[in-house]
Amino acid sequence: MQLIMASQNPNKIAEIAPFLPEAMTLQSLLDVGYTTELEETGTTLEQNASQKAWFVYRKFGTSCFADDTGLEVTALNGAPGVYSARYGGPERTAQKNIDRLLRELAPHTDRSAQFRTVISLIWNGVEHQFEGVVKGVILHEPVGIGGFGYDPIFQPDGDIRSFAQFSKAEKNAISHRGRALAKLLAFLKNH
Ligand code: IMP
Repeated sequence: MQLIMASQNPNKIAEIAPFLPEAMTLQSLLDVGYTTELEETGTTLEQNASQKAWFVYRKFGTSCFADDTGLEVTALNGAPGVYSARYGGPERTAQKNIDRLLRELAPHTDRSAQFRTVISLIWNGVEHQFEGVVKGVILHEPVGIGGFGYDPIFQPDGDIRSFAQFSKAEKNAISHRGRALAKLLAFLKNH
């Protein structure tokens, strides 16, 4: 049984593959020879995940899944959300994204936020979506050197460290992406 992950990132595939049922082979877009960037023109994480997954399913006719993640800040009405990667400008750098977020949030007292991942799976032609959420607060300045993206300014509830101070395994255990993936894997084990 073949499953394509709608991603060109071999690290993501390597992380997930060991958890799949034995009979399943996971391939990235690079494995199937697709190197063009996938379109993400939706206004919600659900739409983008769905758009990418259906595109790959129609192109290759193989069961597949796509993910989309955003940081949703309460006081900013859910921004940067679906625009998280490009919040600080077209350069898409973590530093610029963080700078803008801290600037926009400075006048607000409510610093609560959540990371949210949506995975869209097209399984035998039918779509299933899985959501993973981790709630926390936005720190006043970056802390830690691990992780990526907004990790240095995100402190998950129940911990005194930023995500950039977590080990990979610790972060996967409670993160938005880890939780959405656990739901996907549970589905795949039962089908
Ligand atoms: P993507 O949908 O996985 O490409 O994520 C979109 C953007 O959200 C990334 O470019 C990052 O800025 C941010 N992001 C996603 N996941 C994480 C995370 O685990 N930690 C910090 N930032 C993240």
